Amino acid sequence: MQTDLFIGGKWVPAAGRFDVLDPATGEVIASVADGDETDAIAAVEAAAGAGPAWSATPPRVRAEVLRKAFELMTERASELAHLISLENGKALTDARGEVAYAAEFFRWYAEEAVRGEGTVVTAPSGANRILVVRQPVGVCVLVTPWNFPAAMATRKIGPALAAGCTVILKPASDTPLTALAMAEILAEAGVPAGVVNVLPSRSSGRVVSAMLHDPRVRKVSFTGSTEVGRILLAQAADNVVNTSMELGGNAPFLVFEDADLDSAVDGAMVAKMRNAGEACTAANRFYVHESVAADFASRLATRMAALRVGPGTSPGTEVGPLVNEDTVGKVDGLVRDALAAGAVAATGGARPDGPGYYYPPTVLTGVAPDAAILRKEIFGPVAPIVTFGSEAEAVAMANDTEYGLVAYVYTTDLARGLRVSEAIEAGMIGLNRGLVSDPAAPFGGVKQSGVGREGGHEGMLDYLESKYIAVTW
Ligand code: NAP
Repeated sequence: MQTDLFIGGKWVPAAGRFDVLDPATGEVIASVADGDETDAIAAVEAAAGAGPAWSATPPRVRAEVLRKAFELMTERASELAHLISLENGKALTDARGEVAYAAEFFRWYAEEAVRGEGTVVTAPSGANRILVVRQPVGVCVLVTPWNFPAAMATRKIGPALAAGCTVILKPASDTPLTALAMAEILAEAGVPAGVVNVLPSRSSGRVVSAMLHDPRVRKVSFTGSTEVGRILLAQAADNVVNTSMELGGNAPFLVFEDADLDSAVDGAMVAKMRNAGEACTAANRFYVHESVAADFASRLATRMAALRVGPGTSPGTEVGPLVNEDTVGKVDGLVRDALAAGAVAATGGARPDGPGYYYPPTVLTGVAPDAAILRKEIFGPVAPIVTFGSEAEAVAMANDTEYGLVAYVYTTDLARGLRVSEAIEAGMIGLNRGLVSDPAAPFGGVKQSGVGREGGHEGMLDYLESKYIAVTW
């Protein structure tokens, strides 16, 4: 497969290269071109050059290119899933789920591309018409994380291309291979040279900064940690670059006394264990009514303990290794800290010896309400459980965080479910559901979880500017 930079429709070498590791063994699986600032500016040049023709390309043609990319991804689902599993470590079942989800963004935005809309109204004075048209923002820098290397890329590339923008994708350096495979698919689908450029780099800070300070760049769409999001928001301020930020989460999972516990445990397994907990949407804190907490914890622990842990690429594995040493070390530290403060491991709770970045599925009970594990993004297969007594207390605990991406609520009382959904400060709520991600829905957070929405109709508006033309006729 290609391992060079993809700029202006060509595979170009870089001055340096870097290694990609297999999280199951820590061994090198590939060496990839390491883009620098000069390469980044060459990519901006290519994207800016391709912009006018791409934005003038009929929406139907742009739509058909995206549709073809969806079909190619679907045809190659097995090989793409294997690649994701290899470089990210996730179990093949999770990787297959990601490919289907990722491809769906191309299909959805193929359908959206032809629904360009504007408005025309008469001004209140009656003197003129107010005509509003939508135009592509222009050259976009897309920065993606390692946890969904395909889906986080297509969730940005799909709407950007549908809107008529051109892009430079800077993938996470832990998982550049999937991004390069996507470049091959897009080129084969008919994306013209320069419309999509892919720039793996170990010097993310420097290359992204160089692009954000080039006046031809008009937007940055970032998915990753809140910490890096803050840096990019500050850099974007220099040239007043349009920003979309999909940042960290700290999702509460609320189980009320009237919840259907079977369904709550099923939902908890999805909300917690999709991608082994390495998801911004992962349930991070379980708040369970005191009357059902012991039952819920014991059922969840039984299900978690039964999961098969192993190399992501091995058939039958349900939980792969975490992505790298830093991530597994962080999870281990948070669990040790909670146990030292009095929490009890109902299952798991200790990092195994041996190679690979494995952490066992873990359920913690008796977690102190001020424990670090409830404040930080765990990003691993650990479910800390805290009890509550009243609805007001549950909502207050759920909102006691600077994050606001997603929350999960389990209750059979629909009025309560909707009341609590409205009271929780989050961009998304799973009401009696452990999964919210859907290419047709607006995904995104409030508070320090982000700015803007991806997916759905809103996702395309993030790549369009409204132009108002005052007309007299
Ligand atoms: P990260 O460390 O913030 O990295 C994300 C991306 O930013 C990577 O491509 C990284 O490149 C790059 N980067 C790092 N430092 C940079 C800098 N100074 N300037 C420019 N780019 C920089 O996040 P991660 O560890 O990959 O991903 C996990 C985080 O993503 C979690 O917080 C998770 O919640 C969040 N996330 C959010 C969503 C959402 O939709 N809200 C979805 C998925 C993940 P390198 O790989 O080279 O460092």
